[in-house]
Amino acid sequence: MNFKSTHLRLTVFYVLIAMAVSISFSVAIYNISSDELGRGLGRQTRQLRDISINGSAISIIPDFEQIRLDQLEESNNRLKNNLIYFNLLILLMSSAAGYSLAKKTLDPIEEVIEAQKRFTTDASHELRTPLTVMRAEIEVNLRDEKLNFADAKKLLKSNLEETEKLETLSSALLKFARLEENSFSGEIISIEETVIDAYEKVESLAKKKSIEFENELLNLKVRGDNKMLTELFVILFDNAIKYSPNKSKINIVMKKDGKMAEIEMKDQGIGIKASDLSYIFNRFYRADSSRSKEKVDGYGLGLSIAKKIVEMHKGSIAVSSNPGKGSTFTIKLPLTYGK
Ligand code: ADP
Repeated sequence: MNFKSTHLRLTVFYVLIAMAVSISFSVAIYNISSDELGRGLGRQTRQLRDISINGSAISIIPDFEQIRLDQLEESNNRLKNNLIYFNLLILLMSSAAGYSLAKKTLDPIEEVIEAQKRFTTDASHELRTPLTVMRAEIEVNLRDEKLNFADAKKLLKSNLEETEKLETLSSALLKFARLEENSFSGEIISIEETVIDAYEKVESLAKKKSIEFENELLNLKVRGDNKMLTELFVILFDNAIKYSPNKSKINIVMKKDGKMAEIEMKDQGIGIKASDLSYIFNRFYRADSSRSKEKVDGYGLGLSIAKKIVEMHKGSIAVSSNPGKGSTFTIKLPLTYGK
């Protein structure tokens, strides 16, 4: 889609509509006014003629009819000129307004299309990497005439890891697609229950690293989608576990902040550098620390899904971090008091 030419076409379209309305009004105004003027002058002439017939001094005026016609033509010309100036003014104004209106209409569409393009490119790139690795490994091993059982097993193991990565990525992409569908159920939900449900899903991961959870939960209700909110906490718990050392603690504190439910999640993990903080909610963004060092698995999609879920619930998500000491994610969701 060429946005420049679409912008121009839309501007012309808006101007044409404005001009069609303006010209139609002008023609109508001209016709009504000139009829009215003709009738008015006709009445005046007839009255003057009556007076002159009765022998008044006005009889010295030579030709009422000619004067009337001249006056009518002059008035019509003046009206015509005024209407032309008025329409030129409308043309100028509607061009400027049409241009900025077209821009306002198209800008958000352009942004969405650009974001979609970026997303497709990034996703294809991420999908291609494991496939390339698998293909290269298979090719090398197939060429090896001395390939033994142990090598073949190693190859299969590596291929399995790559397919697991592909599975993780495609399920994250699917989650995104489902969120885009916007099938938001809008039921009343206990945040406490969703936090517990999410915890149950990551419990085994936490246990593997002997990570302890400390909770201060409250029975707060919000309106939203149960599955999405559980997914939100799973993402945050999963990250807190992934980026924390063994035997550390994760704290979850819930409180009321005016009309919002506030959920704070604090870990004692690797933390996030200040320079990364504003990017971690972007799709496919991963801080260098999570790519290198212990090579934590992931595609940089979790937090962008989390952000989208929070936005769909008209809430907010924020992060503060102390590199080397830990991170705190704070979510705010509008409270509801219904049953
Ligand atoms: P992923 O974890 O799959 O890389 P996310 O979108 O969930 O993707 O997170 C984006 C990045 O934010 C991560 O790569 C990591 O660098 C950073 N991050 C997220 N949560 C934490 C956390 N609790 N502690 C430290 N870093 C984090």
